[in-house]
Amino acid sequence: MSKYVYSFGGGTAEGDSTMRNLLGGKGANLCEMANLGFPVPPGFTIPTDLCNIYYELDGDYPEGLKEQVNAAIVKMGDIRGGAYGSTENPLLLSVRSGARQSMPGMMDTILNVGLTTETLGGLITQTGNERFAYDAYRRLITMYSDVVMEKSKGIEPTEGRGIRLQLEHLLEAKKEALGAEGDTDLTADDLKDLVDQYKTTVERVLGTPFPDSAEEQIWGAIGAVFDSWNATRAIAYRRIEGIPDEWGTAVNVQAMVYGNMGENSATGVAFTRDPATGENIFYGEWLANAQGEDVVAGLRTPLPVNDLMKNDSSDDSETLEARHKACYDEMIDLREKLEQHYGDMQDIEFTIEDGQLWMLQCRTGKRTGAAAIKMAVDMCKEGLIDKKEALKRVSADSLVQVLLPMVDPAAEGAAELLAKGLPAGPGGANGKLVFTSDDAVTQGKENGEKVILVRDETSPEDVHGMHAASAVLTAKGGMTSHAALVARAWGKCCIVGCSDIEIDVENRQMSIGGKIFKEGEWITLNGTTGNVYDGQLDLIDPDLETNVEFTELMDFTDEFRRLKIRTNADTPADAQRAIGFGAEGIGLFRIEHMFYGEGSDEPLFKLRKMIMSSDEVERRAALDELYPHMKSDIKATLDVMSGYPVTIRLLDPPLHEFVPHDANARQELASELNVSITEFNRRSDDLHETNPMMGHRGVRLGISFPEITEAQVRAILESAVELTQEGRDIHPEIMIPVLGHVNELKNQKKIVDQVYQEVREKYNVDAIDHMVGTMIEIPRAALTADKVAEAAEFFSFGTNDLTQMSFGFSRDDVAGFLPDYIEQGVLDNDPFQTVDQDGVGQLIEVGIERGRKTRPDLKVGICGEHGGDADSVIFCHNINMDYVSCSPFRVPIARLAAAHAVIQD
Ligand code: ADP
Ligand code: MG
Ligand code: MG
Repeated sequence: MSKYVYSFGGGTAEGDSTMRNLLGGKGANLCEMANLGFPVPPGFTIPTDLCNIYYELDGDYPEGLKEQVNAAIVKMGDIRGGAYGSTENPLLLSVRSGARQSMPGMMDTILNVGLTTETLGGLITQTGNERFAYDAYRRLITMYSDVVMEKSKGIEPTEGRGIRLQLEHLLEAKKEALGAEGDTDLTADDLKDLVDQYKTTVERVLGTPFPDSAEEQIWGAIGAVFDSWNATRAIAYRRIEGIPDEWGTAVNVQAMVYGNMGENSATGVAFTRDPATGENIFYGEWLANAQGEDVVAGLRTPLPVNDLMKNDSSDDSETLEARHKACYDEMIDLREKLEQHYGDMQDIEFTIEDGQLWMLQCRTGKRTGAAAIKMAVDMCKEGLIDKKEALKRVSADSLVQVLLPMVDPAAEGAAELLAKGLPAGPGGANGKLVFTSDDAVTQGKENGEKVILVRDETSPEDVHGMHAASAVLTAKGGMTSHAALVARAWGKCCIVGCSDIEIDVENRQMSIGGKIFKEGEWITLNGTTGNVYDGQLDLIDPDLETNVEFTELMDFTDEFRRLKIRTNADTPADAQRAIGFGAEGIGLFRIEHMFYGEGSDEPLFKLRKMIMSSDEVERRAALDELYPHMKSDIKATLDVMSGYPVTIRLLDPPLHEFVPHDANARQELASELNVSITEFNRRSDDLHETNPMMGHRGVRLGISFPEITEAQVRAILESAVELTQEGRDIHPEIMIPVLGHVNELKNQKKIVDQVYQEVREKYNVDAIDHMVGTMIEIPRAALTADKVAEAAEFFSFGTNDLTQMSFGFSRDDVAGFLPDYIEQGVLDNDPFQTVDQDGVGQLIEVGIERGRKTRPDLKVGICGEHGGDADSVIFCHNINMDYVSCSPFRVPIARLAAAHAVIQD
């Protein structure tokens, strides 16, 4: 017969951590901890394939399952004591979900399963603690009615009328009537009364009485876990995270241990290292006399486990270390063992039952990008992992997080601090206030606004809104709350537990210290400190030079990667920054960029003059004026890049963009050219193009007006000679853009060679180091690469245009329809972000292959946006490019991806 049940507990287990696909993450790790001899309450796991069978059988179970479950429960009773359904010594169960990959908060756990009017008496006699028994009962009713009787039945109550909320309101009302501060102040009688109210309410609201049979409860709970796999919110989370539907969830049934048995009991959540910074400290929160998710739910403010965890607001809180010294020491020991065993930071759940420690869960902990980097480097130094593993531990996404903008410290110093919360998610963010997740989606995603979602606390129902918002701020909850966990995993700026905020969702506003903030008003968050500011503060790029682990990790990448990493830079400042990030050359320097931005007035005016010239004489005169600007611009960047190659792309301007629209400017230019405004306008009309993207630009310009190519090449080569004579190490690569036919290149190469001779003679030098190559951005050039390589010493794939030309998608107009493509699954992702390997990628591969057939030492790189996209970089490695080039900021990402590419193969 098939095996449907895998038991664990009492020092052994029928599974281990390698069986995560079958047992789910939680089940596999419970087995692993049991095998390690950790104090794990006994239990068993029904594997994930049962979930699929359950759906195949339309919500039924295969033969044999019930018998195996019953046998396993008897075994648990033997270890833990008691029997399920017993009226004398009842064993109570927790029923927990657990997919392969942890899905925080997605699946619901039910605790204290097996409590009925009959078994309740047994529990009271057995423990002598009536208050505890009723506390457990009211919790069971809340969780069970919510998860099993409402959610898994597909009942969708109107907002605020869900059974869980209604029961919680009764609890609140009770506390208020008694003037009780927390639920721990309620007595046995209070709770007894509450349980009666709960039962009546459940029956009234849901139309069925709360099940008073232990047998019915366990199967109801198991079925609900399977059902929850297909709950709307679970499906939504899977879509975002790309988790396949067929994985299914396992069900874990486990003997209860009680953290709510009184003041000598407790429950908590901890991480073996700080998940926010990566610091090697034991990090966690706990609550006395509590159960389950109390710590996470933010009902009471959780306490720090040790002094290291304390902050301004928890200075005089009692630590777990102080209250439960023995359990704390035991946990420190387990912490060490866990890290040695798993070789990674673990996220653990624990409960202390009357002074005895129980481990309820461990899993690899989610962490911020900064923490991922620090832990990887630290653990490598500690000998827990090697460099390869350290590199694998850091994803491109984690790296993006530390490169993330942060609040400008200068602006922050001058700003009004509104409130302070707990720093749960990294970086800085500013945005307009929204108070519901649906609003966040409409305004953030659909209207393209930057929004900050403000909630009391978040739940899985908020996931879509959290995703759409640029940051999340909650009034309640601790560092292990739902909001904190989700935000941290996504690397989203997030502040939680900001208790000074009072939210009025109905009126879409909040108040802080009496001041009202309405929807749409700007605030700024510093997710690294927990500070909330009024208004829209500037965000700036972080200072990485002081981040030691970042630098060390980047050094690791260099030991593995084969690809060279260059940058796309047009100014000495950008080039310098990129060198700081580890760039080994420039893959794209665009001459026309000297005509944009600061200090460009004069060269721009001269360029315009050149563009508006009508014949060669006029044009040469204008070029002569432009020449010194061009030369000093090129020279400055070549200088910074001494020792590295610099690919300089000849002018590729959409001409009409450079014709002034403003009447005064037109007049001024006309006078300068000595022509009437009518003549000027005629020339400007001549420049008008129906489709400038495919118009008179790039190499076509150089063919019509050879003197333009001539001047640029001269500027490059003269700069190179002069810098070389000054002792610099200069390697210019002249790149001809927008090429479709080899003859275009041959035509231009003649000009280059001619100028080369002239410059050599002028400076009386034997040779000037340089290369001539082309940008491959038109499919025809890729297809005829064997021919093109006859004239080109290097190829640089301009994948922005190559994508545009291959798909026939206008880059400037794609925003109008691409979202529909993604939404409807016509395309998996934006081909302008990640190389379309099947189509555009094929052109690149063909181009490289044919080009190298003609010229085996052809140097090949990429200079589109894709050069900084991790997946695309790996592709570039796999098809044997020599280098990738990307914006300075993305150089570290490319370095890491290039190392990942090697480690993976
Ligand atoms: P999640 O997947 O959301 O983490 P869990 O299955 O871990 O859900 O359960 C939620 C909470 O219930 C945990 O914090 C844990 O403390 C508590 N819990 C689970 N099983 C038991 C048990 N056997 N005894 C006591 N508490 C439990
Ligand atoms: Mg949960
Ligand atoms: Mg858990």
